[in-house]
Amino acid sequence: TSYKRINEVDEKVQAFLTLDEENARTHAKALDKALGLEKEHGLLYGLPIGIKDNIVTKGLRTTCASKILGDFDPIYDATVVEKLKQAETVTIGKINMDEFAMGSSNENSAFAATRNPWNLEYVPGGSSGGSAAAVAAGEVFFSLGSDTGGSIRQPAAYCGVVGLKPTYGRVSRYGLVAFASSLDQIGPITRTVEDNAYLLQAISGLDPLDSTSANEDVPDFLSSLTGDINGLKIAVPKEYLGQGVSEEVRQSVLDALKVLEGLGATWEEVSLPHSKYALATYYLLSSSEASANLARFDGVRYGHRTDNAKNLLEMYKHTRSEGFGPEVKRRIMLGTYALSAGHYDAYYVKAQKVRTLIKQDFEDVFEKYDVIIGPTTPTPAFKIGENTKDPLTMYANDILTIPVNLAGVPGISVPAGFVDGLPVGLQIIGKHFDESTIYRVAHAYE
Ligand code: GLN
Repeated sequence: TSYKRINEVDEKVQAFLTLDEENARTHAKALDKALGLEKEHGLLYGLPIGIKDNIVTKGLRTTCASKILGDFDPIYDATVVEKLKQAETVTIGKINMDEFAMGSSNENSAFAATRNPWNLEYVPGGSSGGSAAAVAAGEVFFSLGSDTGGSIRQPAAYCGVVGLKPTYGRVSRYGLVAFASSLDQIGPITRTVEDNAYLLQAISGLDPLDSTSANEDVPDFLSSLTGDINGLKIAVPKEYLGQGVSEEVRQSVLDALKVLEGLGATWEEVSLPHSKYALATYYLLSSSEASANLARFDGVRYGHRTDNAKNLLEMYKHTRSEGFGPEVKRRIMLGTYALSAGHYDAYYVKAQKVRTLIKQDFEDVFEKYDVIIGPTTPTPAFKIGENTKDPLTMYANDILTIPVNLAGVPGISVPAGFVDGLPVGLQIIGKHFDESTIYRVAHAYE
């Protein structure tokens, strides 16, 4: 049924870059045959899933929506893909995204701009826009995205689905093509909170192949879906309902808080005073890390190599100028500049210090409260083309999601109604490794 639905709608939505129909059918048939045999099957058995195209899949093209990896077939599976195989899900294909996960609208894909299934003239968000759109359009019920500064939560909000960025370290990133290593996390995008918990359960845990994956117990996330939030203490940062946040979005958050109050929770306004520096800090640090991470795409080891070079230096230069799109180049230049000898202390080191202050803000609030709640984005989705000429307006989209990555804490976006026919998201942020409480609140609210 996934392929049937994809055939019906993907021409319009453009969520998929590569379909793996033959393998998926063979795999599904094999799973069918195994059904009823002595082996026990998990709860994700046989379920179709889409994978963001920056997560490597053995033998299945993985492009990061970039020309530089246009014909790259990985020789191994990412740990999350391996874990999904163990859970016996069926991979339907690879999903469109902003090139190298840099963007907030999917318009930076080198191949196609995914559209918002609720209104095809609007963006689905980014960079995991394809992952959110595929779930919203019913092409798959489960997908994986990655979130460096909001790339799971923002598209989930724009497409009216559930998207979680786990705690930094909760899920292995072995096989995730790195954008900004101190921020990147893989996470689940689904229709319901319960599905989300199932998928996180399947992909979480320590991985010897990723030194940043954490040696923390993985709790039974499903058992937290009790519906009981009596006595829960909610913090609502005033910075998250302030300037730039539209009246309708503010109202949707206040409505949600009423629902939660009705269930026995209480809320108070708090301050995350360094939020105003988060955007600048994020773009400095993430671009610096990207400039280092993307150095490996040099025409020697992976993907595209120019036909047009007389010597090695020219080969590097032409390969990279032909292979990378404009946004990726912008980030590499910004990052290289920030890391250069004369500017390192003024920019990179300063940004690291501010990052610590932002993290501290969250720690202070979490001493007294169980979760932080606010909108996922300041407004609903914008029109395709509306922000493409103005990178700064585009960057400002992530103002409410970025602090969470800088602090390393987990955050979810759940649907919180519609404004003018377009979905808006409620963001619930939790303590380090406390996805359970996030799920409990999200499930009670849903
Ligand atoms: N939109 C942000 C950026 O362009 C976030 C991207 C992400 O989380 N991968 O960097």
